[in-house]
Amino acid sequence: MLDVVNLQVAYGPVKAVHGISLRVEKGELVTIIGANGAGKTSTLNALMGLVPAQGGSAVMKGHDLLKNNTEKCCGLGIAMSPEGRRVFGNMTVADNLRAGGTSLSRAKCEIRLGHVLKRFPILGERALQLAGTLSGGEQQMLAIGRALMVDPSFLILDEPSLGLAPKIVSQVFALIAELKAEGVTILLVEQNVKKSLAIADRAYVMELGRITREGRAAELAADSNIHDAYLGAH
Ligand code: ATP
Repeated sequence: MLDVVNLQVAYGPVKAVHGISLRVEKGELVTIIGANGAGKTSTLNALMGLVPAQGGSAVMKGHDLLKNNTEKCCGLGIAMSPEGRRVFGNMTVADNLRAGGTSLSRAKCEIRLGHVLKRFPILGERALQLAGTLSGGEQQMLAIGRALMVDPSFLILDEPSLGLAPKIVSQVFALIAELKAEGVTILLVEQNVKKSLAIADRAYVMELGRITREGRAAELAADSNIHDAYLGAH
């Protein structure tokens, strides 16, 4: 579904991604793991057209995402829940969700809003509350709900468990597993390596802008080097 070849990202003189290649098959849940600053977010942002790529290609449905703008990416059925959630604190929960559906007709947007509010009852109860007053976990659900407004076939999730209490983290991972079971293809960046390897089909390990390992998630989870480097703390 997505074929990334030799992707490079730089911020002025700082090279963040040094020519990585990865693929995601239809229906797969693929995770990219790695330490802070490894280049994971830069990779996702380049795929979404949020930062320019210096080179490479990322082909989906015959289109090179790196040549597209963000709006075109959304038109291809890709949606992203960004790192740090980025909800609009001064807007209501419902309006935050509508903001995820601006590419839809008004009628379709309201139908999708109904679906998303039903899927996340906690958001349904708080539909008219300002998003800034939600808890961190609720804001994360809102960020994912906003991405689901377009009924995406390809969902990009950047650090959905960051800063959340363990119980909420489990809920977020359960939701991701549910979305996969429904057939959504998912590219997940996470620092909770144990939980992301537990639900992923395949994984890539990024270090200093390069992919250093790749394989079945279960195999990587059982690998002692991966365990020592990334699983000790969880
Ligand atoms: P984290 O989990 O901390 O977000 P990451 O693996 O997602 O880490 P990136 O955020 O992609 O890593 O950062 C990769 C490198 O690019 C880092 O060295 C970072 O300092 C640098 N970087 C990221 N964004 C910018 C920016 N806007 N301007 C300059 N350098 C940046």
